Amino acid sequence: MKILVLGSGGREHALVWRLRQSPSVDHLWCAPGNGGICAEAECVPADLKDVAGVAGLAARLGTDLTVAGPEAPLVLGIADEFARRGLALLGPSKASARLEGSKVFAKEFMARHKIPTAQTFGIFDRADAARAALRTIDGPVVLKADGLCAGKGVLVTSERAEAEKFVARSLEQNEFGDSGTPLLIEEALQGTELSYMVLTDGEHIAPLAPTQDHKRAFDGDQGPNTGGMGAYSADGMLSPALEEQILSTIVRPTLAGLSMEQSPYNGFLYCGLMLTSSGPKVLEYNCRLGDPETQPLMMRFDSDLGAVLQATVEGQLDKAEVRWKPGASTCVVMASGGYPGPFEAGKPIAGLEAAAQISGAKVFHAGTRRQEAAYYTSSGRVLGVTAVGASLRAATDLAYQAAQKIHFDDAHYRNDIARSAQQTVGAGRD
Ligand code: AMP
Repeated sequence: MKILVLGSGGREHALVWRLRQSPSVDHLWCAPGNGGICAEAECVPADLKDVAGVAGLAARLGTDLTVAGPEAPLVLGIADEFARRGLALLGPSKASARLEGSKVFAKEFMARHKIPTAQTFGIFDRADAARAALRTIDGPVVLKADGLCAGKGVLVTSERAEAEKFVARSLEQNEFGDSGTPLLIEEALQGTELSYMVLTDGEHIAPLAPTQDHKRAFDGDQGPNTGGMGAYSADGMLSPALEEQILSTIVRPTLAGLSMEQSPYNGFLYCGLMLTSSGPKVLEYNCRLGDPETQPLMMRFDSDLGAVLQATVEGQLDKAEVRWKPGASTCVVMASGGYPGPFEAGKPIAGLEAAAQISGAKVFHAGTRRQEAAYYTSSGRVLGVTAVGASLRAATDLAYQAAQKIHFDDAHYRNDIARSAQQTVGAGRD
């Protein structure tokens, strides 16, 4: 098979790396890719927002399958464009991608299909109406801009003044552009957050190994939210009873609802959940894999990924074998100093060869540029230093051992990725 992967981050590097080891894959492209990906796949320039252009590229290359990494091209309808041209793509249609592209659509969809989620207080186009509603609500609330806002469109707060400021930013100052309207106000749920991801052809479901990410910039979950400073995966993070509850109350009704309203969902579905005292409830859907979660996931994936993804687009996921390495894996993100605020790019990266010598570790590139034999930083998240082990402690120790070999000016990473979980899950054998 000839496969084209779309995207340029750590998620796509991990997919490319695993696909390269697939016996069924004989050629791999990545568009546009990054410095690290170019060492493992043929990188081709592309603007992923130009869905017709990307479909034309896939046709010219003669790909058998295209895998969409990020959400933007899916929300813009790349799956529909590929389908029109008879080209195979893994990822949901524009209509289904609204689960991620519109918080209001997702909320109304969940109401129609009785999928547990936070109570809606209102959906507002006008700031005065949103402010009036806030005055009637006691306690913490959540405000959500409708569209894609690169992680900046949600506020959880107990302070009315802060909530009113967010109303002004999204509905009056148009800080989020068209994505800011309408504004959804909902109940703040209490509990433990959990991400649950599946691969599905709309009918059959292959649950992915459980993962957890770390969103805050600094140790001890301090500092601003980021795209993700690390993630881990370990056996035992999720009990079989809870997993069945998530499948029966959330995942299956979601897929059945989409099949009924439009067409069977195809691709990865990510459910951001809150485990509350009255059961798991949906905080958000994503129509693709999480990043950095994909990096520890691909370290544990133990089947022919190309064959599994092809079976999915053919509606035959039940015939594919999806196995996971027992044990655990951990990804430590190395970021540019200052991220998620302003940072400098273009710093030379040293120590990648030394890190590559560590057996069980793999350095995925999230934001690098290659120039001749040298690598330079090119974005906020730079590398995902990832390792696999028999236990969460072993995997995490190995990831940090590899991270310590790597240097660039002002590099920043958290020192506590997976550390509190290693006491309770993924004990395995050290
Ligand atoms: P979202 O993009 O909808 O997942 O929101 C981003 C983050 O906001 C989530 O990961 C949660 O930490 C938090 N969040 C979203 N909705 C709620 C809610 N209803 N109650 C509590 N926290 C929430």
